[in-house]
Amino acid sequence: MSVLDRVVGGVSCREVLVDLSEYVDGELPPTRVAAVEAHLAGCDRCERFGGRFASTVAALRRSLARPTGGVPPEMAAGLRRRLAEDGAA
Ligand SMILES: [Zn+2]
Repeated sequence: MSVLDRVVGGVSCREVLVDLSEYVDGELPPTRVAAVEAHLAGCDRCERFGGRFASTVAALRRSLARPTGGVPPEMAAGLRRRLAEDGAA
């Protein structure tokens, strides 16, 4: 039996590794995200491996959460104002 078959939080290490790329891309369904995070929290082996991803993912998710896709809203508003003024001139 492989160490990758260890089941923590309802998923095996192997499943976590399979889901990890989607998890990093933010394409994993919330229910799977919860399972992956529960596994990472309870599996010391994956925590060491996936923990490095997890901090990257967290930072990534914060930047992706912006509705304008990375540009701060106040900056986008100023840009739109400038564009509107240029268009009127
Ligand atoms: Zn694991």
